[in-house]
Amino acid sequence: MPEFAKNIVVAHRGAWKTQGLPENSIAALKHAIALKCTGSEFDVQMTADDILVVNHDPEYQGMSIPETSYADLAVHKLSNGETLPTLREYIRAGLENNTTTRLVCEIKPSKTVERGEFMAEKAVALVKELHAEDMTVYISFGFEILRKIEELNPKAHTQYLEANKSPEQLKAVGIDGADYHFKAFKKHPEWIESAKKIGIALNAWTVNDPADMDWLLEEGFDYITTNEPEVLLEKIKSK
Ligand code: MG
Repeated sequence: MPEFAKNIVVAHRGAWKTQGLPENSIAALKHAIALKCTGSEFDVQMTADDILVVNHDPEYQGMSIPETSYADLAVHKLSNGETLPTLREYIRAGLENNTTTRLVCEIKPSKTVERGEFMAEKAVALVKELHAEDMTVYISFGFEILRKIEELNPKAHTQYLEANKSPEQLKAVGIDGADYHFKAFKKHPEWIESAKKIGIALNAWTVNDPADMDWLLEEGFDYITTNEPEVLLEKIKSK
């Protein structure tokens, strides 16, 4: 069983910045694990031939991921020489020598709700096949994507990214956390209190300014998602 690191640091797209690594690379994931972040986030897109791949944008080196086969995309390497990681490869790498760092899997919404739900189905099946269920947190801007994941596996841990639902609205459909832009919590401080009261996890993105980190730490957030995991880890250590 995982024993997640007892900190609140989620490395956004892996820990890439200080190492000069490509965002969402397996190397950036490995570095987040080496730092013992409690989570490492990554983004999932789907190719024309229905392969889930890890990349932030729907474009990869000038090609549209949903309209290009994996073989054609994979001709082009990441800047560190890695091949464009499939979700399978990424999760397998994330399971190696790792009991501390959650795999925070963002399913990117697709052109249609159906395609997004299909991606969710494929991701849930893959996570199950790889025995990564305890290690995985699913996040998405797609409310229907998270609902689909909860329908397929009610034990899955899910967090919603678009700050247009109250913690009560998330709870009502079985979503487990509010992972909102930190400014949304400044606008809706009442969400912080109600989330704690009803057991909705609190996460905020993308928090790179030390002053914003301090505020979220004071507010008792469960997770803080950042491009500066080293800064946040150091801050916690000195508290
Ligand atoms: Mg993301």
